[in-house]
Amino acid sequence: MTPAEFRTFGHQLVDLIADYRETVAARPVRAATHPGDTRALLPAAPPHEPEPFERVLADVGRVILPALTHWQHPRFCGYFPANSALPAVLADFLSGGLGVLGLNWQACPALTELEEVCCDWVRQAVGLSSAWSGVIHDTASTASLVALVCARERASAFSLARGGLQGEPAALTVYASQQAHSSVEKAALLAGFGRDNVRAVPTDSAFALDARALDELVRADRAAGKRPCAVVATTGTTASTALDPVGAVAEVAERHALWVHVDAAMAGSAMILPECRHMWDGIERADSLVLNPHKWLGATFDNSLYFVRDPEHLVRVMSTSPSYLRTATDGLAPNYRDWGVPLGRRFRALKLWFLFRSEGVRGLQARLRRDIANAAWLAEQVRAAPHWKVVAPVPLQTVCVRHEPPGVTGDALDAHTRAWAERVNASGAAYVTPAVLAGRWMVRVSVGSLTTERADVEAVWHALRAAAES
Ligand SMILES: *Cc1c(COP(=O)(O)O)cnc(C)c1O
Repeated sequence: MTPAEFRTFGHQLVDLIADYRETVAARPVRAATHPGDTRALLPAAPPHEPEPFERVLADVGRVILPALTHWQHPRFCGYFPANSALPAVLADFLSGGLGVLGLNWQACPALTELEEVCCDWVRQAVGLSSAWSGVIHDTASTASLVALVCARERASAFSLARGGLQGEPAALTVYASQQAHSSVEKAALLAGFGRDNVRAVPTDSAFALDARALDELVRADRAAGKRPCAVVATTGTTASTALDPVGAVAEVAERHALWVHVDAAMAGSAMILPECRHMWDGIERADSLVLNPHKWLGATFDNSLYFVRDPEHLVRVMSTSPSYLRTATDGLAPNYRDWGVPLGRRFRALKLWFLFRSEGVRGLQARLRRDIANAAWLAEQVRAAPHWKVVAPVPLQTVCVRHEPPGVTGDALDAHTRAWAERVNASGAAYVTPAVLAGRWMVRVSVGSLTTERADVEAVWHALRAAAES
């Protein structure tokens, strides 16, 4: 493809995306396809001869669009908002178009420096002190892995420079609530702690980590000869957006010299609202935190910000500096390859830059406030409706609901919940995610796509009632 052809097809692709966004609300939210349907439309072998690009673009409409579950749909209430704001879409396009790689500062000075500035913009926007330094990772899963590796290396006085964990005299232990994201356990396993040394801390009636129970578990482990190493507190759990008490967790951690990592992947975006910052009170006492602007904020997957208080420790753990990567400017600018796992780094900061400049902190705040108010409205409707229940606190934009018809309990209630959730999703009118909370199935209604307005939430509520009460 020549630049001239790119100009033509690029315009067509932008039109396709704009048409898609303008019409997505009219599509069923969940793809109506079955496993294998898409594969059946694709040749099994790669094309040997080049094809005209018109045919490729046409196949986007024929093969791809019908097999999408539409995350950018105003009535997409599944999982969490993975908002892809159009300025960030353009930034991603630009990143590919420029085709640069930030291996070190010299390999692409603008990439490094824009990342530095945009991470600091986010830091300020969410009200963190200047003691924090940030870097963009792909996902919170990666950030939490890096955090636990850093915790491991602090507790073991750099065991990686000796025999690694295999040479340690006592097993290191990690703590997170029973409601923590699966990525935390995965990170602990990949970091080499071993399942025997990962503790699920009980939660209270609001599904938040019980700091007293944490203290007891840590003491028991110490008494048993283990070496407690790190605790992960979650601001906004996946099932119900529960808020672990970061301050109380930090207090226990300080008593026992634990690393504190805060997983605010979802709820971190809400910290651009001063009225929400009490939700992570004590955050300044943590060692590391992750928040995903690619979720609610709109920075287009992938864009996960990892903040640390001690970047020197991070670099000491992560850096290996072969001679071909050393340059005269090392030390004058961050070498982000030493802030995480990958060497290659794409220009993800453009997404934050375009987003913040296009919407302003004020615009982002207004959108998140709209979503929180819409979720509160929905929770009120659910509470007021006969046989409906809100089964967890609603601090943000996720409403956990259950329809409990008289006489339906236990496994029958679980079957009813899962059946009506499936009816909602099969109808295409809305998309919700059922999940287990306190041993019972419930349905999460995660409000907050870019275009979700009150009328959409009303329509979602109507769809839930129609599916459950029929
Ligand atoms: C979404 C989420 C994750 C995982 O995020 P990835 O960026 O997809 O790895 C982890 N923790 C919480 C609390 C989340 O909401």
